[in-house]
Amino acid sequence: MSHEIEVRSIAVGPLEANCYILKCDEKGSAVIIDPGDEADRLAHTIKEAGLKPEAILLTHGHIDHANAAGALKDSFGCPIYIHRGDRDIVERGESPVLWGLVRNHCAVDKEIADGDEIAVGDIKFAVLHAPGHTSGSVCYRVGSLLFTGDVLFRGSIGRTDLPGGSDADMMQTLKTRISVLDGSTLVYPGHGPETTIEHEKKFNPFL
Ligand SMILES: [Zn+2]
Ligand SMILES: [Zn+2]
Repeated sequence: MSHEIEVRSIAVGPLEANCYILKCDEKGSAVIIDPGDEADRLAHTIKEAGLKPEAILLTHGHIDHANAAGALKDSFGCPIYIHRGDRDIVERGESPVLWGLVRNHCAVDKEIADGDEIAVGDIKFAVLHAPGHTSGSVCYRVGSLLFTGDVLFRGSIGRTDLPGGSDADMMQTLKTRISVLDGSTLVYPGHGPETTIEHEKKFNPFL
C-alpha cells in the first residue's frame, strides 16, 4: 500500500525559516526538517497531530534552521542528522549570537553523506550533498519532493558570503545537482514559498 506523504510547513523565528513536518506513514511516524526556532510551538503542533518524530534532519547548520533541534530531540527522543561539513556549527558554533539569535548548541547523532538514504516509516529520504551556501549543506529528496534548505529558493539562491560558503561550489551544485532534476520536482525551500524545478529553470537567473 503506498502512502501519500503529508507535509506541514511552519515558518519559525525572526528570519521565518521554514520548518517542515512530514508524516511518513499511517502510524504517524514523522520527520522534522530544520526546526530553527519556536520549539514549544513545533512540539505542540506535532503532538496535536498525533505524530511521532523519528528523525530531525538538518539541511545545514545555520542558527535559523537548527536552533530548536536540541529541544525537540529532548522532547521526542529522536536523533539529529547533519552533514559532517556543518556538524561543528551546530555543536559549538563559532558565533554564539547571530542575526539577533542566541545559539542553542546540541549534539549531533548521525553524520550523513551524499547518497545516504534515511528510512522512516514507509518513506526514504535521499541525501544530496549541495555545498555552496555552507560546505555541509544538503538537500533531502523524497520521491518527487525536494527540501533545499538555503541552496535554492523560489526566484533566488542562498548567499555564499558566510563562513563555509563558496560561489564556485554553489555554481557546481546548481549545475550538477539541481538543474538535472526532473522539472516536475516540487521544491520546498528553507525560506519562502514552494516552487518546482521547471519554474526555477524558466525564471530563476541562477539556474
Ligand atoms: Zn543558511
Ligand atoms: Zn536560512
